[in-house]
Amino acid sequence: MTALATTREGNRYRAYGPRQLPAIGQRYGLSAEVVESIDVIAHVLPFRVNDHVLDNLVDWNNIPDDPMFQLLFPQAGMLADNTTAQLRSLARRGWPRAETQRLTTAIRRDLNPHPSGQMELNVPMEAGSNFAIPGLQHKYRETVLYFPAQGQTCHAYCTYCFRWAQFVGDPELKFATADPSQLVRYLGEHPAVTDVLVTGGDPLIMSTARLTAHVEPLLGVGSVRTVRFGTKTLTFWPGRYVDDQDSADLLGLFEKIVVSGRTCAVMAHFSHPREIDQPLTIEAIRRIRDTGAQVFCQAPLIARVNDDPAVWADLWRREAALGAVPYYMFVERDTGPHDYFKVPLPRAVQIFQDAYRQLPGLARTVRGPVMSATPGKIVVDGSYQSSSSQRLYLRFLQARDPGIVGQPFTARCSPHASWFTELDSFEAPHRVLAALDSGDRRLPSTSRAGM
Ligand SMILES: *Cc1c(COP(=O)(O)O)cnc(C)c1O
Ligand code: SF4
Repeated sequence: MTALATTREGNRYRAYGPRQLPAIGQRYGLSAEVVESIDVIAHVLPFRVNDHVLDNLVDWNNIPDDPMFQLLFPQAGMLADNTTAQLRSLARRGWPRAETQRLTTAIRRDLNPHPSGQMELNVPMEAGSNFAIPGLQHKYRETVLYFPAQGQTCHAYCTYCFRWAQFVGDPELKFATADPSQLVRYLGEHPAVTDVLVTGGDPLIMSTARLTAHVEPLLGVGSVRTVRFGTKTLTFWPGRYVDDQDSADLLGLFEKIVVSGRTCAVMAHFSHPREIDQPLTIEAIRRIRDTGAQVFCQAPLIARVNDDPAVWADLWRREAALGAVPYYMFVERDTGPHDYFKVPLPRAVQIFQDAYRQLPGLARTVRGPVMSATPGKIVVDGSYQSSSSQRLYLRFLQARDPGIVGQPFTARCSPHASWFTELDSFEAPHRVLAALDSGDRRLPSTSRAGM
């Protein structure tokens, strides 16, 4: 058993993984059964925590129901019962190496590690060749996603993460890039791209020097007007902006982007009000805003973590009060332990609307619930009962085909449908149907109705 540090070394970041589970159990009073069942699931799903999340976010008096415990610790119900039983039998035999490897690889492949065509559909090709550019995704005309290789991990892991395949060390499941030269060349050839979203994992896991090497070259590309950072550091390691050894340099980088005349945005990921109700996080947001950068907030709707309108209303009010902008409520993707976390779409839209109604006008910047699916970002605007079935009002917020953005359409929705692929009987303009028909969804021809 690897011990945790006995004296806390102040604010220095240290990651704890499955090997520290017994020590974590001892420090916070978890029973041996709970530790063991976390350990079994952590052989398949990623697990990483640190002192900030353990000391400040988890309510240790409310285990296992505490939303932060559910967010951070793999749980017994996250895998199918027979899968868990297979893992337990390996545990009893001391995790024989080859067998463990075979089983965990097979289980992971069954968990849809790259949902929504991330791998095949969005990776741009080098001009005039058939080589994909690793670490880039270009799906919507104006925005490119950039995955720096050293940013493919996070200060802690969310159990519901849809990027989980990048963390578990299967090289076939990873995509990332070591340096920005191909990105810069690609941007030069595609002046319609105005937005670069640097993401991961979490790009702010990198040292400021590394991050600067990836980002500074973008400031030489005139067509790039916005640089965004997708990050959960404000939750998992807010000291990144306050008292890490290169915090001041990080804030300096943001300021440099702003001074260049560009928009710099931190796309924060807050799942629960407790994450934001932390002195260090509040201070971090203040410092980010002082650079002229903006903070936008998004998170998925997750059963057992935040499937409650009061939680979202509280979260969005707190964000707005700190000058951060509530941005998206996502629907949990169909990957990883989806059955454990999913919220049926009719319930999702009800939670969104109940929360939204309570907000002051300035917090009503938020949109949702949004499904980020193969054809685009689809928001559920409401549900209604038609003569024969329950239906949803839907609308594209983002699409490969910009011409369909904003066009309302409807679909039939069973009470348990929790993802776009479970909807049918669409009523939509032909151009929307064509988009819906692409990628992970082949509509049965009987379910089409042009308008
Ligand atoms: C969400 C997303 C974006 C950014 O969309 P915005 O609506 O501009 O925030 C860009 N690319 C992909 C692939 C996305 O999923
Ligand atoms: S912060 Fe984002 S990328 Fe990191 S584990 Fe959570 S959901 Fe995944």
